[in-house]
Amino acid sequence: MSEDGIEQKYIKEAFDTNWVVPLGPNVDAFEKDLEDFVNLNDNATLSKRVVALSSGTAAVHLALIACGVGPDDEVIGQSFTFCASANPVVYLGAKPVFVDSEPETWNMDPELLEVAIKDRIAKTGRKPKAIVTVALYGMPYRIERIMEIARRYDIPVIEDAVEGFGSRYKGQMLGTFGDYGVLSFNGNKMITTSGGGALICPDEEAQQKVMWLATQARESYPYYQHEAIGYNYRMSNICAGIGRGQMTVANDHIAHHRHVQALYEELLADVKGIEVHKQPSLSTEGKGDFDSNYWLCTITLDPDMKVKGQEKAYQKVVQKAVGGAAGVIHAVSSAVTDCQPNDNVEAMRVCLDDAGIEARPTWKPMHCQPVYRTSVAYVNGVAEGIFKRGLCLPSGPCVTDDDVRYIVNTIKDSIL
Ligand SMILES: *Cc1c(COP(=O)(O)O)cnc(C)c1O
Repeated sequence: MSEDGIEQKYIKEAFDTNWVVPLGPNVDAFEKDLEDFVNLNDNATLSKRVVALSSGTAAVHLALIACGVGPDDEVIGQSFTFCASANPVVYLGAKPVFVDSEPETWNMDPELLEVAIKDRIAKTGRKPKAIVTVALYGMPYRIERIMEIARRYDIPVIEDAVEGFGSRYKGQMLGTFGDYGVLSFNGNKMITTSGGGALICPDEEAQQKVMWLATQARESYPYYQHEAIGYNYRMSNICAGIGRGQMTVANDHIAHHRHVQALYEELLADVKGIEVHKQPSLSTEGKGDFDSNYWLCTITLDPDMKVKGQEKAYQKVVQKAVGGAAGVIHAVSSAVTDCQPNDNVEAMRVCLDDAGIEARPTWKPMHCQPVYRTSVAYVNGVAEGIFKRGLCLPSGPCVTDDDVRYIVNTIKDSIL
């Protein structure tokens, strides 16, 4: 929440003016705020257009449709991501093709991307229909190289910039490099509308088409006339009211996440066996190109590091989803899977949990997920290796400096 509760003002306004519906003044104003935010750029003025939607997942879905993805098409995506970057490919009857990461940014390996494109063309006789890039934990991916490859093969790029809201690459906001850019305002993201998302579109024509698809593809007759299949994906005016309030604190949130990251880096610098994931400072693209929002601070643990209780790791079946996510109602029958974080990572997670600290493993790559076991994947072992060694630390707007010190001390105490 913003300090003066400006969210409540906009929500109240929505009730007072009877705009308790999808569409409305808050939606229009929130879209304008988002356009101003993403178009702000150190080098040039952009003119991207934004459509507010019910979720980031919906935005991925509509972006794929806008890129012409349909049944049996192939879509290349980063394997190391949250499932929502990939699932909408399957909603459309298309096939995800997963590409592994490179070790510095943890994002899509450009070389492997090109290998994948060439191999798909050789094997299927057709180009992949789109590429979905991801800014995992907020970290910009190797944008220039990936865009160059995408352009060379003339394949549209959908940027899943959800975790990279406010991250920049060479001064330009993530989500504005690709043909489309996906944002999310779910409860755990950089800013929240309780639930919601947005799609950054290249121009007004694309924006209008996405809006039309998001509102059941209604034709403008006095009666309901449909000439295409649409979706009920528009953001409600109430959620957009929260979004307008959140936009007033977005830059503060980003600054806070960066501050928390810097403090973790400082306090963990001399802890042997722990590496804090940082953006490349020197790179082939030159110094200082990467400007992560550091949505989540992540660490990796040396497999040889010994942590209290690691001999008992995974002996108990976990009764709830990590993080206590609502809706996770599938009880698991086994404490282990064939691909899981190392015992010392799980033991540290439990030590932190016992101290009231919620840490969670890094995302399990899509090519290691049972649901995607038959999908084609171009793998180099990077994402799976990080998944086995990685832990995400609390980094949200409520995490204070004292909290970070307490978390780091708990980490140190857990090491044998
Ligand atoms: C959260 C997330 C999404 C989905 O956003 P929702 O608004 O929750 O649907 C998509 N991609 C990534 C990388 C995410 O972290």
